[in-house]
Amino acid sequence: MKKVYEQSALADSSTEELLRELLVRLGEDPDRDGLKRTPERMHKALEHLTKGYHEDPEKVLQGALFNVTYDEMVIVKDIEMFSLCEHHLLPFFGKVHVAYIPNGRVIGLSKIPRLVDIFARRLQVQERLTVQIAETMQNAIQPLGVGVVVEARHLCVMMRGVEKQHSSAVTSHMLGSFRASDKTREEFLSLIRNGKNGGSF
Ligand SMILES: [Zn+2]
Repeated sequence: MKKVYEQSALADSSTEELLRELLVRLGEDPDRDGLKRTPERMHKALEHLTKGYHEDPEKVLQGALFNVTYDEMVIVKDIEMFSLCEHHLLPFFGKVHVAYIPNGRVIGLSKIPRLVDIFARRLQVQERLTVQIAETMQNAIQPLGVGVVVEARHLCVMMRGVEKQHSSAVTSHMLGSFRASDKTREEFLSLIRNGKNGGSF
């Protein structure tokens, strides 16, 4: 135990030294009052925002599957999502909508936002995040189909002077009946459009 602790303490201090050095290279004085504890805070924040690497999405879902004879669409919409783009380490954030049609098994509803968080708390691109959520649902629940739509705004686009400050990116991934049936896909898309107040997420 003691050895593990010493290793992680060493990792902590070297990460903080690295972040301190980053502040110097950006032209800052890491010893001024406001910045003294910034390497420590950045380190904690980065660890939190990437803790999805240490969580197993399949395990989370496996523990919450129930046999139920319900074969209508289940939708969890407007799931808040915050992630970091892997190209700039800047946030992208928005809403995730997830739907599936059970085939004898359902998943505890609270597990779907958990799944979104696990994949969002890694360095990501929006397209891969969308696919990972859909495919993990498909593998774990074996439903008739899965649909995932992600709408997000990217600070790397908004803050870097690209003249598209109000644009958002929409990605989707459809599997099974959501891919095969226009009617199913339309039902999903119309249900996530309903109750939208101007799309300001
Ligand atoms: Zn980016």
